[in-house]
Amino acid sequence: MIAVDTHCHLFWSDFDSDRDDVVRRAVESGVSAILNLGTTVETSRDCIALAERYEQCWAAVGFHPHDVEVFAVDPEEAVSELRLLTGHPKVVAVGETGLDFYRGRETEEAQRASLQAHFVMAREAGLPIVLHNRSAGPELREMLEEYDSEVTAILHCFVGDEEFGRWAIDRGHYLGLGGIFTFPSSDLPGMVTAWDIDRLVLETDSPFLSPLPHRGRRNEPAFIVHTARAIAEALGMSVEDLSERMTANACRVLDLSLPGRDAGSSEDC
Ligand SMILES: [Zn+2]
Repeated sequence: MIAVDTHCHLFWSDFDSDRDDVVRRAVESGVSAILNLGTTVETSRDCIALAERYEQCWAAVGFHPHDVEVFAVDPEEAVSELRLLTGHPKVVAVGETGLDFYRGRETEEAQRASLQAHFVMAREAGLPIVLHNRSAGPELREMLEEYDSEVTAILHCFVGDEEFGRWAIDRGHYLGLGGIFTFPSSDLPGMVTAWDIDRLVLETDSPFLSPLPHRGRRNEPAFIVHTARAIAEALGMSVEDLSERMTANACRVLDLSLPGRDAGSSEDC
């Protein structure tokens, strides 16, 4: 099996004691590329440091909606720092950004301002944007619509309904599918057949959201195989075919070239 883990946070201290082993296990299980996403300027720099240390790691830079208060202290400074980071050769996306109203709407205005700034940055840098959405589907959709003629998005950890997924795909975006897909309560296996397979990418969101049978424990990129198997089963495909297709999708949207494979823009990556 070959896979790209399009959503990780390996800079978290959860991995301090065994980061080398985590990356090694990922590679051994077929994960050829791992995208780490920043949540602040500092952790965006950590993602770049990981990308410099490990050949398989790539970076995205941005402010997570949970950290929007940090962004709001000095938005101009935050944007100018992030903009500098987008010039690094291993930075392949802007994010993690998005909207999260789950805990309330106290920071709604700041979240919207941050997301808007990230869209502008992604457009300027010619990079895709990685979007977090929790309890903010309609608002996120509205903002995406405003920018999406120029910016391609990955809707990370997609949990919207079938129609939202189809809408995003029709507009040229990608849906990230992770551990939630394997949960017995998930609606995703019933919806995935309605979506264009060439717009789906795999992710783990490590260290969060472990797939079955690891649910409740620290997640890591090697566990992506469980999600790939569940998706393959829902689509009636072999896990090898499915993961090849999803790897090609990840390479296309992130413009990655993997060792031994053609550049991201080509058909088979
Ligand atoms: Zn994340």
